Amino acid sequence: MDYYPLFLNLKGQACLVVGGGEIAFRKSQSLLKAGAHVTLVAPDITPELRQLISDEKITYISKCFIPEYLAAKRLVIAATNDSTLNRLISAKADEENILVNVPDDLKSCRFIVPAIIDRSPLIIAVSSGGTAPLLARLLRQKLETMIPASYGDLAKFAAHFRDQVKNKLSILTARRRFWEGIFEGPIANRVLNGQITFAENEFRQALALHVKDEGTKTGEVFIIGAGPGDPELLTLKALRLMQQSDIVFYDNLASPDVLNLVRRDAIRVSVAKKKNKHKMAQTEINSAMIEHAKAGKRVCRLKGGDPFIFGRGGEEVEALIDAEVSFQIVPGITAASGCTTYAGIPLTHRDHADTVTFVTGHKKDNGKLDIDFEHLAKDRQTIVFYMGLGNLPEISDRLQFHGLASDTPAAAIEQGTYAHQRVLCSTLKNLTSDTEGFDFQSPTLIVIGKVVSLADKLHWFGSPPIKGKCNLASDHLQDKTSLEFIPRFNTA
Ligand code: SAH
Repeated sequence: MDYYPLFLNLKGQACLVVGGGEIAFRKSQSLLKAGAHVTLVAPDITPELRQLISDEKITYISKCFIPEYLAAKRLVIAATNDSTLNRLISAKADEENILVNVPDDLKSCRFIVPAIIDRSPLIIAVSSGGTAPLLARLLRQKLETMIPASYGDLAKFAAHFRDQVKNKLSILTARRRFWEGIFEGPIANRVLNGQITFAENEFRQALALHVKDEGTKTGEVFIIGAGPGDPELLTLKALRLMQQSDIVFYDNLASPDVLNLVRRDAIRVSVAKKKNKHKMAQTEINSAMIEHAKAGKRVCRLKGGDPFIFGRGGEEVEALIDAEVSFQIVPGITAASGCTTYAGIPLTHRDHADTVTFVTGHKKDNGKLDIDFEHLAKDRQTIVFYMGLGNLPEISDRLQFHGLASDTPAAAIEQGTYAHQRVLCSTLKNLTSDTEGFDFQSPTLIVIGKVVSLADKLHWFGSPPIKGKCNLASDHLQDKTSLEFIPRFNTA
């Protein structure tokens, strides 16, 4: 973040605007709106500014700028048509610790002015940090159409009841829950429709009811599939529940961009392995979720992909049921679906694959890959290995041993659905050495089957697929020895 966003209270504060043109007029007007005392310095001014002066709204000094005019000012805007003078004003103001802005000269600004949507007392500010003001303005236009003008009335309505609610509901989470119910429910609609008296009566009833219920209320756990990485792949339900959560337990597959969408003031707990710290065991995660839910919190368990696909979601839900904690489960786009789609690999295709199988490539505690390879090694299907990168040599060898052709197209997708995703297209035989050669790291998804050959044509996202060695089927046909298969594992 390059700038610290803040809203400044300028009521009764002395501010200086230097310049006599249209920009100086606009800036003076917005400062006046915020209740500031504006002094304008400029030898010549526009008729609009003259009007402001004759209405006695601003103080006018009909001279050129001198540093003495900065005395006792909180904020200054240098808006003359002389960029050298603007820079000089900026430097002097900065020396005096006065906040300074020079329109269209980012380097000379101590603060920048956002595009705003004014629904006072509700104000929404949008800024591109000075990089693309037009983009910020476009965004503002979009938001303008989404936020009814009467939202200001809703904010005033809430302000009226704020202290009452605070007195009756002393616990922050209880208050938050109450207000969320109000803002998302029929009472807010009443206010937006101008039915204030109805709204006030219903509000009082709702508050009394909430106070009565609060003591008996327990929390809830949301087991949420966060998808493979791209935050736009979240479901609407996932987003809604993430926005309601008080605490979130996330693992390392939940992308930072997704995590950013959890409610800002929610507590964030990583359950992933970290430097000098062991990762939270499944039983510890279960106990922590239960403990917080029983304390009345809304707990978000944010999991990569889909919670029920190699995600231990089932185990977590069992623990919640045993502990009599209520829960909701939100499916997510699993890696097999998200990563292959973003790699241009259709999981099924009429010409290539009628079946798709999701397999874990993770070894059990006894160190064995407990997979029915004989059953898997069939044509006209797509096999997707999760957690398969580390055991790729064995996966590849055993599939070939059971008869799957060495030149079956195979791909590795690293960090799928992220802008920096890498897709490597190779063959069953060569995928291991190719992933090693290109230093593929976790998370990587392995896809085996003829559909992989479509990636070249259907590629649409990120960089084009990387070609592994002997990627082309013709290479194999010329090099018969490459079809010979020598198992590296013990077949006895
Ligand atoms: N529940 C998750 C899977 C968890 S297992 C889901 O439904 O997607 C973790 C494995 O998923 C990783 O080892 C990797 O094989 C795969 N994976 C998850 N996200 C991925 C991503 N963005 N890119 C590539 N592989 C991913």
